[in-house]
Amino acid sequence: MALIVHKYGGTSMGSTERIKNVAKRVAKWHDAGHQIVVVPSAMSGETNRIIGLAKEIMAQPDPRELDMIASTGEQVSVGLLAMALQAIGKQAVSYAGWQVAIKTDSAYTKARIASIDDAKVKADLDAGKIVIITGFQGVDDLGNITTLGRGGSDTSAVAVAAALKAQECLIYTDVDGVYTTDPRVVSDARRLNTVTFEEMLEMASLGSKVLQIRSVEFAGNYRMPTRVLSSLTDPLMPLEEEAKSGTLISFEEDTHMEQATITGIAFNRDEAKITVLGVPDRPGIAYQILGPVADANIEVDMIIQNQSVEGKTDFTFTVPRGEYQKAMDVLEGSVKAHIGAASIAGDSKVSKVSVVGVGMRSHVGIASQMFRTLSEEGINIQMISTSEIKISVLIDEKYMELAVRALHKAFGLENA
Ligand code: ADP
Ligand code: ASP
Ligand code: MG
Repeated sequence: MALIVHKYGGTSMGSTERIKNVAKRVAKWHDAGHQIVVVPSAMSGETNRIIGLAKEIMAQPDPRELDMIASTGEQVSVGLLAMALQAIGKQAVSYAGWQVAIKTDSAYTKARIASIDDAKVKADLDAGKIVIITGFQGVDDLGNITTLGRGGSDTSAVAVAAALKAQECLIYTDVDGVYTTDPRVVSDARRLNTVTFEEMLEMASLGSKVLQIRSVEFAGNYRMPTRVLSSLTDPLMPLEEEAKSGTLISFEEDTHMEQATITGIAFNRDEAKITVLGVPDRPGIAYQILGPVADANIEVDMIIQNQSVEGKTDFTFTVPRGEYQKAMDVLEGSVKAHIGAASIAGDSKVSKVSVVGVGMRSHVGIASQMFRTLSEEGINIQMISTSEIKISVLIDEKYMELAVRALHKAFGLENA
């Protein structure tokens, strides 16, 4: 007998039929003698619909009120799933995040989990119940409802698994594992049997939306075995087969079976680039530009400072596209005049494409192969950033899919 956490995403919970299938699958695991905690997302489209309602009322809704409503989709899901389990004769109980409680900080719409009280859940499990906990939501010290950022149910699930010291966290989704790149963009992308934690962290942070980045951080920090697998298979398929399916995030590099140099290609469509031109090249200038941007809670990603010519330089950086206007306002507002910059230019139609792989550490020539491939497709590289296990380039968004396909092929990642 083991304690196992299941997470089901929006598509997996997308209709009452699908919820009944989830119930059958969960019941199968429970019947096999396991203690099961389920963390579902809202039904697909529901969180978008709710946020859309808020935006019909005002363009920039108060984040506290936004979390108050955005968290409700998951509340419907847990109740429906508990009913679906009860309907097939299982004892099941649902909880909202605040009832558990899943305590977070007060950073509405992007809260971080601080602690999870396992007492109530453990008691229910010991009484033979299946426990269902809302994904995505938590509660701060003052009792306000918070949410963990889009895609946050992954993080709820892995955090709950870590708090309960579960044997494994199974992330059921609408694809049957982690692929060499998004299978919706490259049809012959290949499923990976294992991916190292480091690679998954890079892929998630570089835009692969299959797992929210914080869920991967939790998996790493608590060394929680986490597997991504399909919820769209026959719910009554043999458990032993299901338990080995999908992609396991591994922590041991030497157990990494697929010794390719490059493991995958990640991309992020939603980037924006800002250049501050004609900046006096003196100490403290990067801080004077980026300090106010950080104070406005805007995350900066890639950064380049050009060689200075006659005491002047250009300073370029990228921000998430959703924060582009806010960043431009900050710079135009006070920074430009304060530092004496000539002008500010921006481009909100850029994308980032990255190649990722621990094998890069022991291979030379990956960057040149990447740049050659892009040059053969006539794609101009605007910015480059690297780490030990990834190379990212910023390009015009209209070439993003072309670049992903060309690189996927050039690095031999397609299905044999
Ligand atoms: P869920 O609702 O279950 O959380 P998501 O839509 O958040 O599902 O994540 C699953 C989706 O992630 C897939 O449908 C796929 O299009 C996308 N995706 C992006 N990159 C990858 C990748 N490398 N491997 C698998 N899926 C990926
Ligand atoms: N329902 C939330 C969202 O759509 C959380 C999740 O699905 O993981 O972002
Ligand atoms: Mg998701």
